Amino acid sequence: MSYAISGAYYNEGSGREGPFDRLKEECGIFGVFGYKDASTLTYYGLHTLQHRGEESAGICVSGGDSFRYHRGMGLVKEVFDAERLAELGGDRAIGHVRYSTSGDSRLANAQPLVFKTRDGELAVATNGNIVNAPHIRHGLEQKGSIFQTTSDTEVIAHLIARSEHDFVQAAKEALKELVGGFAFLLMTNDRLLAASDPHGLRPIVMGRLGDAYVFSSETCALEAVGAELVRPLEPGELVVVDAWGHRSERFAPGAKRSLCAMEFIYFSRPDSQLHDVNLHTARKHMGMQLAEEAFVDADIVTGVPDSSISAAIGYAEKTGIPYEMGLIKSKYTGRTFIQPSQELREQGVKMKLSAVRSVVEGKRVILIDDSIVRGTTSRRIVNMLREAGAREVHLRIASPPFRHPCFYGIDTPKSEDLLAHMHTEEEMRKLIGADSLAFLSKEGMIEAIGGSYADKPSGGLCLACFDDDYPTELYGARATAGSEAASVRR
Ligand code: SF4
Repeated sequence: MSYAISGAYYNEGSGREGPFDRLKEECGIFGVFGYKDASTLTYYGLHTLQHRGEESAGICVSGGDSFRYHRGMGLVKEVFDAERLAELGGDRAIGHVRYSTSGDSRLANAQPLVFKTRDGELAVATNGNIVNAPHIRHGLEQKGSIFQTTSDTEVIAHLIARSEHDFVQAAKEALKELVGGFAFLLMTNDRLLAASDPHGLRPIVMGRLGDAYVFSSETCALEAVGAELVRPLEPGELVVVDAWGHRSERFAPGAKRSLCAMEFIYFSRPDSQLHDVNLHTARKHMGMQLAEEAFVDADIVTGVPDSSISAAIGYAEKTGIPYEMGLIKSKYTGRTFIQPSQELREQGVKMKLSAVRSVVEGKRVILIDDSIVRGTTSRRIVNMLREAGAREVHLRIASPPFRHPCFYGIDTPKSEDLLAHMHTEEEMRKLIGADSLAFLSKEGMIEAIGGSYADKPSGGLCLACFDDDYPTELYGARATAGSEAASVRR
């Protein structure tokens, strides 16, 4: 079969991964209730969650009175400065960082979205994707609702606004109608609500900072602001915080937990913790398991920075083959606004990532990567190592083959552009140009992640991009997978 690896080589606009055909991050959300300088705390929280989205950032604040908010395109540090934060006085806030879409970057879609309802103001920040949003939206439009954005997030505001019940009951009823993977933060003038979808697909945790309540997509942001982790939200749980404290309610019976496996593999920061599992440790165990399943004799082990370093350390530790820094990533994190020619793109790779000739020259190298999407990156990195004099390059992937698109908030290419969807392992090896190629098994990955919360046999994980077993109905999303319409609308 003849096949050329094609597709986007750059994550346009994404400063974090630059020249890689990586999966695009989701969004990050952060909220606080009862802290005197809520906007500054949220700023630091969002800054820590920056890896989850670099397209836009926003914070909405209240002191129990009218909302003050600011949203902008760019990184958190570009959107906010001390002066701007000083204007956002109040003891409660929600904030959002949004991932980078290809092309269509719209301020109107930046969050938190703010609405006026007959019962007061409502701010909404979310991470994830609602697969039945087009259906709900169509139904609402038929009944006269007018939408201001293309974001799915607006759907919940309309559902709440149409309800005749009090706010908490209205929110519960609205959330119950949504199908997909999502974590929500909702703020009114006197309450903060946090919700997790019925399968717990997208992570959200609750913490305490003195008397204040803090919510975040990842625990690393709690750490950054000095808050203590209380617990992750349960699937189908709604936590309501107001001046009298917090209470936990359910908007849906918790289904079997299906936390996104890609959070463990790639998305979350290594210093974050998902349930009782530290991400660095989980990735290291995946590397160790990979060494057991796919050993190859070589001189050094190296990992694609940054997300594959932990797995590479695990592989090296298990095999006794030394871990070496064979690849260096530039610390420069600015975004690329100029789209270079193909020739300059090649040069661009070397600016972002380079092989260390003195480390790899003449060596048999085991290259550890966390995943293969289109294969573009893998091929170029293998090439780069060969150009730097590596004698052999053995590619080991610390996750199973990524074969199916995600409908729960990860911007994935359509199936035909996923290398593992179209090819056997041997075909992939040839296309990438490695001397050997092997993936971690699904069972091995579940075992390596562990986690006392895990329900067997899936380990409490969503594994749909590996095994096509989606935890929810898809409402026709499969038909438009990979198209602009199917990209995540948050
Ligand atoms: S399909 Fe894959 S990327 Fe999407 S939520 Fe499930 S595990 Fe995560």
